[in-house]
Amino acid sequence: MVFIVGLTGGIGSGKTAVSDRFAKLGIKVVDADVCARVVVEPGRPALAQIVDHFGPEVLQADGSLDRARLRQIVFANEAERKWLESLLHPLIFEEMWSQLQSANSPYAILVSPLLVEAGQNAICQRILVVDVPEDVQLARTMARDANSAEQVKAMMASQASRDARLAKADDVIVNDSDLLMLKQRVDEIHHQYLALAEISKQ
Ligand code: ATP
Repeated sequence: MVFIVGLTGGIGSGKTAVSDRFAKLGIKVVDADVCARVVVEPGRPALAQIVDHFGPEVLQADGSLDRARLRQIVFANEAERKWLESLLHPLIFEEMWSQLQSANSPYAILVSPLLVEAGQNAICQRILVVDVPEDVQLARTMARDANSAEQVKAMMASQASRDARLAKADDVIVNDSDLLMLKQRVDEIHHQYLALAEISKQ
């Protein structure tokens, strides 16, 4: 059974920067966002069920899911959102689980913006939170995505609060300095995880 570290953090906190470094260290990284896209690819049963339920207007011309359109529909309708979540959450979970079980590194990272909110922390032995002060989070996300401060603030407000996330953390990486410091911090925590994964086998 692979030792699973759940990695989470708010928008623009540095999850990708952190998980890229773990991957460079040879650790298997499973991305919940990627899994969420895989389960609705053309040919997957979930896509047919979504089209049956919402109609062909949620498809793009090439037959793939129009994710923006679907988001609009469920954003405006709580019951539809619940319907969609109850269809997709178990499938996403299965996809994550099978990717994690195929890991042949000493431990695996599950990176997810909604790790705690979606209950994915249940399969993790350890929770690692990337934490940044909100002003840094705002500035980095705006620089990366060319979004307005209002748009980024709205996204931040829709996620778990910084305190709520930190309350679930076993380990925290404070990403308020440069990328070199971040790399060093990941390398340090990697050694702790190697040791913990080894202990968990005994
Ligand atoms: P999202 O939830 O939106 O996917 P994320 O948590 O994966 O975001 P990243 O994309 O890793 O966050 O980081 C956000 C931006 O900030 C990126 O442009 C990244 O290069 C930059 N960044 C991350 N950490 C640092 C740092 N320590 N110093 C400078 N820039 C950083």
